[in-house]
Amino acid sequence: MKYVSTRSQAPALGFGDVLLAGLASDGGLYVPEKLPTFSQEEIASWASLSYQELAFKVMWPFVEDDVPEGEFKRMIDEAYAGFNHSAVAPMVQTDNNEWVLELFRGPTLAFKDFALQLLGRLMDYILSQRGEKLVIMGATSGDTGSAAIEGCRHSEHLDIFILHPYQRVSEVQRRQMTTVIDDNVFNIAVKGNFDDCQSMIKASFADQGFLKGAKLGAVNSINWARIMAQIVYYFSSALAVGGPHRKVSFSVPTGNFGDIFAGYLAKQMGLPIDQLVVATNQNDILHRTIATNDMSRQSLNVTLSPSMDIMVSSNFERLLFDAHGRDSAALADLMARFNAGDVTLNDEAWSFVKENFDSYKVDDTRTCEVISEVFQSTQYLLDPHTAIGLEAARQCWKDKSVPMITLATAHPVKFPEAVEKAGCDLPSLPEHMKDLFERDEAYEVIDNDLSAVQGFVADRI
Ligand SMILES: *Cc1c(COP(=O)(O)O)cnc(C)c1O
Repeated sequence: MKYVSTRSQAPALGFGDVLLAGLASDGGLYVPEKLPTFSQEEIASWASLSYQELAFKVMWPFVEDDVPEGEFKRMIDEAYAGFNHSAVAPMVQTDNNEWVLELFRGPTLAFKDFALQLLGRLMDYILSQRGEKLVIMGATSGDTGSAAIEGCRHSEHLDIFILHPYQRVSEVQRRQMTTVIDDNVFNIAVKGNFDDCQSMIKASFADQGFLKGAKLGAVNSINWARIMAQIVYYFSSALAVGGPHRKVSFSVPTGNFGDIFAGYLAKQMGLPIDQLVVATNQNDILHRTIATNDMSRQSLNVTLSPSMDIMVSSNFERLLFDAHGRDSAALADLMARFNAGDVTLNDEAWSFVKENFDSYKVDDTRTCEVISEVFQSTQYLLDPHTAIGLEAARQCWKDKSVPMITLATAHPVKFPEAVEKAGCDLPSLPEHMKDLFERDEAYEVIDNDLSAVQGFVADRI
């Protein structure tokens, strides 16, 4: 399978190159030239497979040119061995025909483990084949950093440097990163905010001279392999509630549009999906785009669901590429206009987006009410991101005979503020993290200064 850039000025590449490149050299994002499709009979025949076996079936067409079958199966088994539920992505019923898909059973308690556990192993394999090393640099406001570190810590061919804003992540989030003491893991607390960290990463990608010849890789959600790994649980959960013989709907708490885009791909690949609901917090550019064709940037709000506090969703470009009939000139023009100011989509593109997605926005007050209401009616505690997903599901659900599945993206213990505001007791840490607050930490506090950060990296690779 070949992958093409949404801007089509970069060469088409195979899986291994796309994995290591992250962003395309023309500033676009890689997508498969042509998606694999599965018949209803084939999907139905997967009903009794384990999550790992199903993951192999769904992802194999994307990687088969670059990874041997046995190796890929081994990586999948290892990636999901550290999850604390044998179904890997179990479901919980919250009301009649209404389900929550628990994607927080991995090592860092958020859905990002699904992709990053596999990504680290895939990168390690490709690099070992090529005899290369890669330096990973990333910025995090919380969940991505720990999931990336957990995914890369055992890789012999990767060094990983994660920047987080000093004293601006929660203690659980910080400790999930800084208590990983490995030779190839480096945590940097930058005396600045998340945007400062993000800018340093962008500057480092743009000018890699400080790396003395080493190559830089990305683990953020522009990396195609992350999207690929997230397609699997749409299939597993649909099969669990009677798909593909009946349609199912999904509601997805959305920030960078990575997770929900995976659902859109599952549908293109043959999974009968009725509705895909985009659930946003107060940072609602996606909801405004879908509902009223208003794609203007607004200032960033700090909310109780911080993993969705995003001004512009990077993966939305992948959808816009399809919405413009894969015409990269039209897309490049749109992105240029978007960078220059407010834009609206043309009628055809907006219709395409509206046909494929519903959307809803939920503010902090309502988020806490939903956590509280659902706890009272079910004794089940939602995290704030999932609460937004569930409220959007209920508001947008058109046909109650179609099962509605909300993606539960994080464990509530990660977001104590929202849980407390909802008047609920904070749950205890899961077994594998019980001693998190006693573990040793290692991290470097560095000034908000690009050359200081780059000097630290250069000295350690
Ligand atoms: C990253 C994250 C999201 C948003 O996912 P996207 O793929 O960026 O849309 C939602 N909830 C939680 C808990 C997250 O960590």
